[in-house]
Amino acid sequence: MKATKAILIPLFYLGFTSFFAPSKSDNNVFLCMGKGSKRYHYIKNCRGLSNCSTKIYEVTLKKAKEMGRTLCGWED
Ligand SMILES: [Zn+2]
Repeated sequence: MKATKAILIPLFYLGFTSFFAPSKSDNNVFLCMGKGSKRYHYIKNCRGLSNCSTKIYEVTLKKAKEMGRTLCGWED
């Protein structure tokens, strides 16, 4: 039993940290869902998102492109 726990806890911890890590390698981007928004952002606190009046959504880069979004002018 002890051996199983020792394996599961590091795995859980790794999954947890990678989920919250602000990394580009996970291919997630941020979108504003406001009326005029046509961009996606790599950085959640980007200038282009700071005047977003709606909720900010996190989606995969692939999904953002499917939605017709292009990279934010501050980040290209
Ligand atoms: Zn941006």
